[in-house]
Amino acid sequence: MSKENTQVLFSKRPFGVFDPKETFTIVKNPIPTLADLKDGQLLVKAYYLSLDPAMRGWMNATRSYIRPVEINEIMRGQIVGEVVLSKNPKFKVGDKVQGFLGWQEYALTNGQDIEKITPPPGASLRDYVGIFGGTGKTAYFGLLDGKPKPGDTVVVSGAAGATGSTVGQIAKIKGARVIGIAGSEEKCNWLVNDLGFDIALNYRDPEFASKLAKATPQYIDIYFDNVGGDILDHCLKRIAKNGRIVLCGAISQYNEKQPKGPAFYTALITQRAKMEGFIIFDYAQKFPIAIKDMAKWLQEGKIKRKEYIIDGLENAPNGLLKLFNGYNTGKMLVKVNDENVKSKL
Ligand code: NAP
Repeated sequence: MSKENTQVLFSKRPFGVFDPKETFTIVKNPIPTLADLKDGQLLVKAYYLSLDPAMRGWMNATRSYIRPVEINEIMRGQIVGEVVLSKNPKFKVGDKVQGFLGWQEYALTNGQDIEKITPPPGASLRDYVGIFGGTGKTAYFGLLDGKPKPGDTVVVSGAAGATGSTVGQIAKIKGARVIGIAGSEEKCNWLVNDLGFDIALNYRDPEFASKLAKATPQYIDIYFDNVGGDILDHCLKRIAKNGRIVLCGAISQYNEKQPKGPAFYTALITQRAKMEGFIIFDYAQKFPIAIKDMAKWLQEGKIKRKEYIIDGLENAPNGLLKLFNGYNTGKMLVKVNDENVKSKL
């Protein structure tokens, strides 16, 4: 076992597309021992780290829903792992936990920022950075808060990603007609053939706009926007009367030096439609409801998920950039340590 604790520091604020080498610095520090722990502290060994497009936003020193990551701070991120040392009566060695402990192999905590987890039948620890994590819960609340009706036309962009693929499947469970938008034919085939989307459209296809119009003869009742930019405009043009647009993310704009807003927003006026921002942290009190439903759907085979796993924390900076280049189908995560190898500390 490595005697060192690999940690990834945020070292330089990017402007535009980030350079993984400049933006992050990998450091190695000794792994804390039991003698290093104060009363109330515990040490968590990370198994998986979630990589999220939001991390690009956390690098900007601008007003947001969360404070920016500071220079030389351990990069923020959600992990799942195991308690390996404890001087905290609420946690014992062997407990599995999840929380925002950052990009590091071993994290010292007082336990207030983590929770114990027990995967239900058919689920894994990894699901707590996926379907039971930020992206799964975002899909659940972002879509269901507006109560989609059976027969509604639901369109979701970033559809082959972690959030989008879950949105489409929940919409199908609720009886909607679902159209996914993704960046390759392979992703589109996965959405239709494996996940049961009604239609999937490749936004790189030169005929994309006309195919979207053809696929939405009754217009769009709910557009779940993960990408912003031109795709948001195309969907605004197709919004139904009293339609709803969930502004969940705008990945096409996160690396832009001058992000652009929607040009066709007047469709909101003419169609009396609503477009509203969404942040998952506002739903924290209701998280157990989402996890219960998702666990049930997972067991019933109504929800499927795919993972794109980056091996090793040192590869997390490059992995994060890959998220913006569409390498992943499903949830991108980093395998930080092997959960089957028990540590001897
Ligand atoms: P993801 O969808 O698993 O991965 C990102 C995907 O975005 C890529 O695979 C890529 O797929 C697509 N993409 C990248 N650049 C694009 C571009 N220029 N135009 C169109 N698509 C592009 O990531 P995720 O974690 O599930 O996040 C999806 C969105 O939800 C992000 O915008 C994220 O910020 C947002 N989100 C918001 C909240 C919230 O609380 N508001 C919470 C979680 C996530 P293609 O191959 O299809 O291009």
